[in-house]
Amino acid sequence: MKNICEKSLAGNDLNSDEILALLKCSDEQFPTVQKYACMVRDKYVGNAVHLRGLIEFSNFCTCDCRYCGIRKSNVHVNRYTMDKEAILEAAHFSRNRGYGSVVLQSGERRDEKFVSFVEDVVREISAIGDGELGITLSCGVQSPEVYRRWRDAGANRYLLRIETTDRKLFAALHPDGDFDSRKEALSALKECGYITGTGVMTGLPGQTVEMLARDVEYFRELGADMIGLGPYVTHSEAVLEEFGTDTPERMRERLAITYRMLCACRLVLRDVNIASATALSALDPENGRVDGLLSGANVVMPNTGSLKQRKEYDLYKNKPETSESLEDIRQSTTRAGCTLELFTQGNPPRQVRHNA
Ligand code: SAM
Repeated sequence: MKNICEKSLAGNDLNSDEILALLKCSDEQFPTVQKYACMVRDKYVGNAVHLRGLIEFSNFCTCDCRYCGIRKSNVHVNRYTMDKEAILEAAHFSRNRGYGSVVLQSGERRDEKFVSFVEDVVREISAIGDGELGITLSCGVQSPEVYRRWRDAGANRYLLRIETTDRKLFAALHPDGDFDSRKEALSALKECGYITGTGVMTGLPGQTVEMLARDVEYFRELGADMIGLGPYVTHSEAVLEEFGTDTPERMRERLAITYRMLCACRLVLRDVNIASATALSALDPENGRVDGLLSGANVVMPNTGSLKQRKEYDLYKNKPETSESLEDIRQSTTRAGCTLELFTQGNPPRQVRHNA
């Protein structure tokens, strides 16, 4: 295991067997893997944690993903779209707190009213502080034309999880989704010049470590600049019946594979930004975020929304509902041995280099 990690630290590419070995590492080997993931992070992107203010601006969705609490056929969710003023207020809040960028996330809609609303909001946010705030969009699969419009309005990053690269599993999870369209959308985002993020859910029913190893290889092939991955968390109104009831043992297993996956991404991709996902805190409120950072992550996405609105953007069970102070966030980064970097966009070095 140490040889594989040393190979990464020296800047060499890991092969399929080595990626699989990282994901399959034993509990005894895992601390070594984690230690190297942090060393690789520190060497290739630095030790600073960057903050992104998450603005979950609408939970209307035209998709019916079977794991998701805001899927269209869940009639028990109150649908909302924040108005422009409220979104701008959240963006100002983020800027004043020193977050380098905002992430505008929503359910998936492709109608012109939605597209032009996002375009307008992005244009206004990009005027704040003369383009000081990075703007990440996470609004699902759209046409290359729409991606271009939003890019021209001022968005510079886009986050679109592939969710899984296994076609069969993808089809089982997305009754109305299409794997090829999602893959093509990710390539379109790269072509359009976005700093592109992708990722998967870990611990999905039917998912194997071999599938996860192929997911990591896909991230590398795509040339992903950012990774956002996190554990699947159950939801009473989402319909992955085959998953059965959640048990503490199952939650522990999903956390363990998520941390291994974070380490593998860091060791394989090296100079990318990797988020310590909110879903980690849903499964382990005390340590989830810190353990994510200890597994090589360097980005945290604090939620900027009101408590009421956060409750309605109800993707999964135990989504954190408390507001955090900057001091709380600083404490978790310090616990992970990292520093907090404020007032900079924190673009991944890979992107900066490729654009040079
Ligand atoms: N519609 C956009 C898209 O598909 O990219 C963005 C919104 S979507 C709700 C954001 C992410 O939430 C998804 O990519 C998915 O991975 C995650 N998510 C949804 N339900 C989840 C669950 N039950 N557990 C963990 N993550 C979940």
